[in-house]
Amino acid sequence: MHKHHRALGLASPREGGVTALDIARQRPAASVTLVRPHAARRAARFFVEKFPGRSMYAVKANPEPALLRELWAAGITHYDVASLAEVALVAETLPQAVLCFMHPVKSEEAIAEAYFAFGVRTFSLDTMDELEKIVAATATDGVAATDLNLCVRIRVSSDHSKLSLAAKFGAEPDEMKDLLIATRQAADALGICFHVGSQAMTPAAYGEAMERVRAAIVEAAVTVDIVDVGGGFPSWYPGMEPPPLEAYFEVIGRAFEDLPISYSAELWCEPGRALCAEYASVLVRVEKRRGDQLYINEGAYGALFDAAHVGWRFPVTLVREEESHTRDMAFSFYGPTCDDLDHMAGPFMLPADTKAGDYVEIGMLGAYGTAMRTRFNGFGAGMTVEAKDEPMASLYAEIEERREASNVVTL
Ligand SMILES: *Cc1c(COP(=O)(O)O)cnc(C)c1O
Repeated sequence: MHKHHRALGLASPREGGVTALDIARQRPAASVTLVRPHAARRAARFFVEKFPGRSMYAVKANPEPALLRELWAAGITHYDVASLAEVALVAETLPQAVLCFMHPVKSEEAIAEAYFAFGVRTFSLDTMDELEKIVAATATDGVAATDLNLCVRIRVSSDHSKLSLAAKFGAEPDEMKDLLIATRQAADALGICFHVGSQAMTPAAYGEAMERVRAAIVEAAVTVDIVDVGGGFPSWYPGMEPPPLEAYFEVIGRAFEDLPISYSAELWCEPGRALCAEYASVLVRVEKRRGDQLYINEGAYGALFDAAHVGWRFPVTLVREEESHTRDMAFSFYGPTCDDLDHMAGPFMLPADTKAGDYVEIGMLGAYGTAMRTRFNGFGAGMTVEAKDEPMASLYAEIEERREASNVVTL
């Protein structure tokens, strides 16, 4: 009993935490977030060791300070931040971290405070307006800063990605020449960055984007010091099984080697999802079953925004003392608020005898999951507990099977 008490919120990291079943036995009424520091460390080490350049973490995917500290400990020293609040949060949590303000549209006030109060030197932009804003906001007594790393974001296709980022940001290829030449004059180091969209399902997305980078460099005939391939590195979800990350790194590394840039130029990437998707899962309770619909205590206004709004299928497992012997069937979920929109179509495959009172673990919510929670209708974040088991053992069994079948290496 004493041990179980600790399971509910007081699990000591030194003891390695608990399992989803340990928590379910306590029958918590609110959803419980299970965090797995070992999964984040593993992902970070993978990028640090295998990506052929520098990996910075895109903080928006999950800004939890405990996660930031794990990534730092595993060797991630650079952080892609997009707001002044993220700048302040990372600076406070990791005072030694290098911050890169990679949102291409910022307020002049945010740029100035990031530069003068937090020492940020790296900024992205996709228009002349933004370039002028950065130059003005970082000047001292009318004298322009000489220590800026400025990355021009080029628009690339999101065709290979599950979530597009092509419409909102990025200079058109025909605007790049003037923008690169003007930025070169304001920058100590000049970069080109892009984002292929989140959950890019093929390495070709990066290969094609690098072709645009090459064309822009050739046309502008400027010296480029940094090529930043952005985020978009995929994770495993049901129905979305991407090639191994090594295949992405290989395409990127080869394309980088082929660019007309100097030997001292740096290659950067900005993974969000791939570093933290496995960091968190959420243990939910079924409060009602109506046919193939399960009413659970987590939803669209909680950690399941993407499941509700872009039809994301997260892996699920029934967490029960005795394994169910019924076959799986397709369920959809309703969240706890009174809103019809609080609906996740799935399909989520669970044993046919799943019923009210059961606990279900929903996996891969470390990226764009727990970070999206609101307090709408009185349902907010419940307890967070450190777990020592693998994230979604069921999903891993599936990955393992496919790995053996295809003889590829994944995370
Ligand atoms: C969101 C974002 C990322 C991270 O994208 P993932 O798909 O999570 O890897 C990286 N860079 C920028 C500029 C972003 O906006």
